[in-house]
Amino acid sequence: MPDKSRTIARLALAVPLNRLFDYSIPAGMQAPEPGCRVQVKFAGRKKVGWVVAISNSTEVPETKLLAIESIIDERSLWNPALWELMTWCRSYYHHPVGEILATALPPALRGSMAATAPASESWRLTATGGQQDLEKLLKRAPRQAALLQALAVPATAESLSAYFEGSDWRAVLRNLSAKGWLEACLVAEASNLTGQKGPQLNSEQEQALAGISETLGHYSTHLLYGVTGSGKTEVYLQLALEVLKRGRQVLFLVPEIGLVPQLLRRVRQRLGQEPVLVHSSQSDGERYRAWYRAASGEARVVIGTRSALFTTLPELGLIVVDEEHDSAYKQQDHWRYQARDIAVKRASLENCTLVLGSATPALESLENAASGRYQLSRLETRANRQKMPDWQLLEMRQQAVEDGLLPETLKLLADNVERGLQSLVFLNRRGYAPVLMCRWCGWQADCDRCDSPMTWHQRANHLACHRCDSRRPVPQRCPDCDSLDLRPLGEGTERVADYLQAQFPQTPIIRFDRDTTRRKNAAADILAQVGEGKACILVGTQMLAKGHHLPRVSLAVILNIDQSLFSTDFRAIEKLAQLLTQVAGRSGRGEDKGLVVLQTYHPQHAQLQQLISSGYLSLADTLLEERRQAGLPPYSYQAIVRAESSHQGELVQALSRLAGNAEAIMDGCVTNIQVLGPMPALQARRAGRYRMNLLFQADTRALLHWLVGQVAADIGHLPGTRKIRWAIDIDPQEL
Ligand code: ADP
Ligand code: ZN
Ligand code: ZN
Repeated sequence: MPDKSRTIARLALAVPLNRLFDYSIPAGMQAPEPGCRVQVKFAGRKKVGWVVAISNSTEVPETKLLAIESIIDERSLWNPALWELMTWCRSYYHHPVGEILATALPPALRGSMAATAPASESWRLTATGGQQDLEKLLKRAPRQAALLQALAVPATAESLSAYFEGSDWRAVLRNLSAKGWLEACLVAEASNLTGQKGPQLNSEQEQALAGISETLGHYSTHLLYGVTGSGKTEVYLQLALEVLKRGRQVLFLVPEIGLVPQLLRRVRQRLGQEPVLVHSSQSDGERYRAWYRAASGEARVVIGTRSALFTTLPELGLIVVDEEHDSAYKQQDHWRYQARDIAVKRASLENCTLVLGSATPALESLENAASGRYQLSRLETRANRQKMPDWQLLEMRQQAVEDGLLPETLKLLADNVERGLQSLVFLNRRGYAPVLMCRWCGWQADCDRCDSPMTWHQRANHLACHRCDSRRPVPQRCPDCDSLDLRPLGEGTERVADYLQAQFPQTPIIRFDRDTTRRKNAAADILAQVGEGKACILVGTQMLAKGHHLPRVSLAVILNIDQSLFSTDFRAIEKLAQLLTQVAGRSGRGEDKGLVVLQTYHPQHAQLQQLISSGYLSLADTLLEERRQAGLPPYSYQAIVRAESSHQGELVQALSRLAGNAEAIMDGCVTNIQVLGPMPALQARRAGRYRMNLLFQADTRALLHWLVGQVAADIGHLPGTRKIRWAIDIDPQEL
C-alpha cells in the first residue's frame, strides 16, 4: 500500500508570488524532506523548487497536477532551527517565499547544482613532501621550495594568496600535488589553533564578558553599549574563544564589506581560526565554498554582511551583530528584511547567545533593553584610557563661507596640518556640487526620470543622478535661455577637497567616498595610506563614519547637517545623532585628545545641544519619550505597502481601493490601527516610475500582521494592476 499521507509536495518556487505550488510525488519516489530541492516543470519550463511541506491532499485537480521529476538533495540545505527561521520569515514579511529562500542560499544552490563537497582549498604537506631537502630544492626550483616552506603548517588559499602576494602559487601547487608532495585538507587543520593572547581586559570589559558568558548555552540577547574605542571587539573575541572551546560555531555580522578585513585579521590573530567570509562581492564559487564549509561544520567562524545571517550552521553558539544600529542591516529592495531583528529570532530558535554591539544603539534596541527583553552591558570609557573628544559648534549665520568652510574651521585645519596631524572632513555628498543652476533664469539640471537635481561631477565631467544612476554630459549653455552662466550650487566632497588642496598644496588631501573607492582594494589602500600616520586631510562621506580605526586623526570637521535637524522623518534626529557620534568617534583615538567641529546655522538647536553636552544615551532617552507620546515606533508597529508604476493615475486608484478595502475589513472589529495614504513616497518619482505608499500603524504586532496579511491577499485580486510593482515593507526605515 502506498503511503497515502505523503503523496503531495508543497513547493516554493523562485517566482514573485507569495504562495506554494503542489506537485505529486510519483509512486516509488521517497517523499523528499522539507528544505530539499526538487526538479519540476513550471509553465512548461524546468525549474528548481524547494520542498516546504509534505501533504496528503491538494486543491489542484488531478488532471492538472504535475509530478516531481527528480529530487536534487538527499538532506535539507538548512539546519532545522534555520529552516524554522525561514518559515517564520515567510509569515513575518509577507514576501514571496521562493525569493526569501533564494536570498538565504548561495547563488550556486539556487539552481540544480548538487550540494557536494567543493574541491578543498586548503593544503598540507604529505610525508614525502615533508622529507624533501629544502636547501637543495631552493637552488633548483626556488618557487617550489617557497611553497613547501609556506606549508610547514597547513594553509588555506586565502593565506597562500596573502603569503605570495599575487604571484601565481597555484601553478606551483598543482605541480607539487601531482608529485604527491602535498594534499588537500580541511580548513580546520589549516588554522594554527593557538591564538595570541589579547590585552588584559579592563574592569568594564570583564564585567560585560562575565555577564554574557554566564548565559552561554541558552538563548539570550545582549546589547553591548560601548563608546567608540571602548574595546567591544575585544569582548566579542574573548566570548567567541569560550564558545569555540565548547565546540560551537560563531557568526559575526558587520554592516559593510569594508569592515570585513579588519575583523578578519583580528579573528585570525586572536582566535587562531581561518574564518569563512560571506558577502556579496564574492564570486558564486567563493560563496558556495564558504557556505559548504560552514554547513558541513568544517569552518567554526563565519564573518559576513547582512545575508550571511542565513548561513547554515549546524552548531551555532554565538551571533555577534557589530554596529547594530547601522541601517545597512535593513535590505531596501526586493525582500526588505532587517538582519539584526531576524538575528534575535534565529538566536532564540537556535537556543544560542546574541550580542548586539554599538556606540549608538538603535532606539528600538535601547527600548528592548529597558523593558528587559535584552540584557544591557556598558563600556563607558575608551580601552586605552584616551579621553573622548571635545565638541565645538561653529555658528554659520552671517559668516563668510568659502566652498562650505568657515574661516575658523580652516584655521583649525591649518593648525593640525602644521602640527603634522591628521584631520577628517565629513560631508554626506559626493561629487562637486549637488546642483547646477543658470544664473540668468534659474533653470537647474534635473534628472528627467526622477524630478530631482543632478549632481555635477567635475572630474568625471558629467551630471549624475544619485537616485537612478543615469548620467548626461554637462551642458555648455542653459537649455532655456541660452546663457553661458551655469553655476554649481552647494558643495560635494570633490569641491571641498579641491578647495583644501588649494589651501594646503603640500598636504595630501584624500577623498574617501563611493567614487574614489570603486576599484577593488581602493578603500583598503586609502586606509593603509592613512594608517601610516603622515599628516593629511581625509574628505569623505558616511563611509568614513563606519567603524574604521584611524589612530592618528585628531580633528573631525562635520559639514552640512542642518537639513536633518528639521526633517519630516521622525527618525532623522536619531540617525543624525548616530552619525555625529560615530564621526566624532573617529577622532582622538591616538595619543592626542580629539576635537570635533560642527558647522551649523542652528547652534542652539536643543537636541544638538543635548547630544554634545550629555551624550548619545541621554538624547536617546528624550527621543524615546517623544516617540512614546506620539505613539510612534518602537511604541507602535508599522508596515508600508509600496507601489510603483509609470502611470500615476493607476497607482492612486489601486492604492485607494486597497485602503478602502482595509478600512472595510477593520470596520467595527478594531480601532487601534490606522491606514494612512495613499501618499507619495519620499522619492516620489525614480527612474521614470511614480512611487506611492500606504502606511499601516498599529499598537500590536499581531494586529498589524493580521491586517497586512489580508491586504497582501487583496493585492492579488485587484483588477487591472498588472503593471504595478508591489512591495510590502515590514518595520520600514524610510518613507
Ligand atoms: P571597539 O570595538 O569598541 O571600537 P576595539 O575592541 O576595537 O574597540 O578596541 C579599540 C582599541 O583598544 C584596539 O586597538 C584594541 O586593541 C584596544 N584595546 C581593547 N581593549 C583593550 C584593553 N583592555 N587594554 C588595552 N587595549 C585595549
Ligand atoms: Zn537660463
Ligand atoms: Zn534619476
